[in-house]
Amino acid sequence: MTDNRLKVLIPEERIEARVAELGREIRERMGDGPITCIGVLKGSFVFMADLVRAIGGEVRCEFLGVSSYHGGTRSTGVVRITEDLRHPIEDQDCLIVEDIVDTGLTMDYLLRMLAVRGPRSVRVCTLLDKPAHREIDLDIDFVGFQIPDEFVVGYGLDLGEFYRNLPYIAVYTP
Ligand code: 5GP
Repeated sequence: MTDNRLKVLIPEERIEARVAELGREIRERMGDGPITCIGVLKGSFVFMADLVRAIGGEVRCEFLGVSSYHGGTRSTGVVRITEDLRHPIEDQDCLIVEDIVDTGLTMDYLLRMLAVRGPRSVRVCTLLDKPAHREIDLDIDFVGFQIPDEFVVGYGLDLGEFYRNLPYIAVYTP
């Protein structure tokens, strides 16, 4: 099915290759011990599934439900936790797995929220980094791809809940 509002930005093969590399980089820098991966729902569920397999070894999978967009294409800056972690993360090496960092407001909120739970370390891995609208200076440990200031969908990212199932990342133009 062709949808002329979509233009492929990152094809499936490039995502696959980069996720494999990220898995190796994460193990190199975080060591061989257990890693608690915290996927930020819903956008990161596809990336999370591929990334945890690329990391290998002992990995716990946790999810945080976060809603920062309400069906539109602009950040509201309001972060709402819709589902909390199921288990404590005290003394664990954690990796937040995010689909995209745009203004940085969501990630800043999550880092502050997790820090008070006493993890041994918290690192951040985002598939996409869109630095154009960054409002908060963030240390992102692992970045899949830097992308230009465009609204993207696919590989977990939605517009009004659709397009998450595209195997590639596409720029959406209405
Ligand atoms: P931030 O708080 O950094 O501005 O935005 C983070 C969240 O905004 C992401 O987790 C994602 O849900 C959403 N977001 C930011 N840019 C895009 C985009 O280009 N496409 C989609 N689908 N969501 C985006």
